[in-house]
Amino acid sequence: MTHLSLEAQIALDQAHIWHPYSAMHSDLPVFHVDSASGVYLTLSDGKRLIDGMSSWWCAIHGYNHPHLNNALEQQLQRMAHVMFGGLTHEPAIRLVEKLVALTPRELQSVFISDSGSVAVEVALKMAIQYWNARGEPGKQRFATLRNGYHGDTMGAMSVCDPLNGMHSLFNSVLSRQFHVERPQCRFGEACQDSDLQALEQLLQANHAQIAALILEPVVQGAGGMYFYAPEYLARARELCDRYRVLLIADEIATGFGRSGKLFACEHAAISPDIMCVGKALTGGYMSLAATLATAEISNTIDQGNPGVFMHGPTFMANPLACAVAVASIEQLIESDWQQHVDRIELQMKQLLSPCAELPQVAEVRCLGAIGVIEMKQAVDMKSIMRQFVDAGIWVRPFGKLVYLMPPYIISARELELLCNSLIDTVARQPG
Ligand SMILES: *Cc1c(COP(=O)(O)O)cnc(C)c1O
Repeated sequence: MTHLSLEAQIALDQAHIWHPYSAMHSDLPVFHVDSASGVYLTLSDGKRLIDGMSSWWCAIHGYNHPHLNNALEQQLQRMAHVMFGGLTHEPAIRLVEKLVALTPRELQSVFISDSGSVAVEVALKMAIQYWNARGEPGKQRFATLRNGYHGDTMGAMSVCDPLNGMHSLFNSVLSRQFHVERPQCRFGEACQDSDLQALEQLLQANHAQIAALILEPVVQGAGGMYFYAPEYLARARELCDRYRVLLIADEIATGFGRSGKLFACEHAAISPDIMCVGKALTGGYMSLAATLATAEISNTIDQGNPGVFMHGPTFMANPLACAVAVASIEQLIESDWQQHVDRIELQMKQLLSPCAELPQVAEVRCLGAIGVIEMKQAVDMKSIMRQFVDAGIWVRPFGKLVYLMPPYIISARELELLCNSLIDTVARQPG
């Protein structure tokens, strides 16, 4: 397929391409992938790696899946893309039908967009337009939890953790939001009144300015891989109602089964006013996201000024992406995803827990198909990435966090190899 040698490609990559959160000229390795199938990535030097990352939460069915491939090929024969202004199509309609059916009953109005960060921007704008339409234009700020992550665009960044998100660097363009400590009550623990105190005080004092509380339900992802008590979420929902603040659930990482429930809000049996989904929405095939809102929110925005929702991406509801999302959701529901995620959780707990005893390790925690080893010190990315690849696994830590979120199709044997190779590598890090 390619007329460039591997060496020439790597040289071009190093000269011209930015990778996520990296320097243009960096001494960190990047590995050249030739193909991917099932739970395996095949590098261009022929090495096969068991994928422990699902390409950042996305590839829940593994790679090169026949049902998803077929959906994309079929849609390609009909049309790759048309604008969504004034036009509609079956892939978008079928996708929205599924999203409305699977998410809490109150969520009836769906805005489809291209990426998670945009879905978050859309959610923030919806909340502001909602209060404006209700005659409360002063409600334009947001409450959020520390150690949260909601994306990399300006609005999304403003609600990320101020330290992890380097707010100081962008201080004059980022809106000032209200950041409360992350919940101290862990998943599986009860919450004390004191756990909710900071949030309550914040809402009580500032609700006239706050449009919404935005949070990642139960699982904080890129800001710390931290699992908190569903009871906190349930009580935050009550506080939002009491202080007339909308609740935005960012399910971009947690959605579609990853936390052990189809959506993490189900752990607390709550319904948010606005929900964002993305990442695993297309099974990792294409970039697509959606923001779902209650009918009350969409009706109110309709009746306000200017009477329309002010957002409209060029590639909104791309038919290829919608078609593969429909296939991914079908595949998820038809497969016994719950049994797979439960089995992965059990096996990761058994295999990873003993490494809490290693001198390098501070804590091990597992929930759903997510396993986290928190180290005492930040890992050396340059050396550890090579060691993982040499061990035949694809794992990408950040800071002190070494974690697994494998595709749901991973077999018991493959998961055992993945966990054991991970532990061997962790045990070889300096203490
Ligand atoms: C990844 C992520 C986002 C941002 O999604 P992108 O598609 O990378 O823009 C937002 N919120 C959460 C919780 C995420 O995990």
